[in-house]
Amino acid sequence: MAEQPGTLLYYLKRSTEFLEKKEIPNPRVDAEWLLSDLLGLPRIKLYSQFEMPLSQKEIDLYRERIVERSKRKPVAYITGKKGFHQFEYFVSEDVLIPRPETEELVDYLFKQKETLTNAFPDGIQIWDLCSGSGCIGLSLSQLLKPNLVVLSDISEKAIETSKSNADKYKLTDVQFYVSSLDNSLPNDLRFDVIVSNPPYIPESEKKDIMPDVLEYEPHLALFVSDILSFHRDLFDSVKRRLKPGGWFLMETHPTYIQELENLAISLGFVSPKKVLDSSNKERFLFLQTESKFES
Ligand code: GLN
Repeated sequence: MAEQPGTLLYYLKRSTEFLEKKEIPNPRVDAEWLLSDLLGLPRIKLYSQFEMPLSQKEIDLYRERIVERSKRKPVAYITGKKGFHQFEYFVSEDVLIPRPETEELVDYLFKQKETLTNAFPDGIQIWDLCSGSGCIGLSLSQLLKPNLVVLSDISEKAIETSKSNADKYKLTDVQFYVSSLDNSLPNDLRFDVIVSNPPYIPESEKKDIMPDVLEYEPHLALFVSDILSFHRDLFDSVKRRLKPGGWFLMETHPTYIQELENLAISLGFVSPKKVLDSSNKERFLFLQTESKFES
């Protein structure tokens, strides 16, 4: 039976067809996300509301959203939010849209909560370096209950976004710095755990990146011109700021992870470990500073 004109299902189908014609990869899923968010319904609920008529206002707003998506604007920038781990954060074009791999980085630490609590019995101080939306640091603040989380990013607008996310979850033990690496952090701040998802795509790979990312996401958060020299500075900052025996966990580019590990070792880091993501790519690099008790 054909759907009745004017109903939710009618607009969902027309929108899906339109996005499909524009070669948007998952047209039905995106059309559903955009509609469920607009109506304030969980996506699955759409299925019990197919016959519901949409108001003129809803139709107009939905059309606007579909047109934006047809121009490749990512769904998260249209709705202004993105689910991450057990949370949902505000995003805008000032910050990278949190990725599933980054959820895995957070989860890796969450799974070691007990080990971490034992390793740092006086309470944990965490630094999320290149914090963007704040998804890593703010999630760890809620999952690990550390003493302090510091978020820093070179972009003032990113820091503003992460502040809104901290307010959303009423997080109080969080400090924010607009800073290039550790340059603007107070001199005496030191951390037990440093986490980072820095920009790690070489400019030379720009041509392979899909337009949704290239045209909308902040290039500052994605690309580096010289991956080794950028990471040398990053590792220097981390080394200055990590307490003896501290943990550093970084998301990175699987192609360069070995070179980056070698670089880190040459700078004095110890206990390197490459951690796989769920697509079996070497995506995360774990490093430590030497503990006081080692010779
Ligand atoms: N930390 C943020 C994220 O993981 C931002 C990362 C970035 O801007 N490179 O999404």
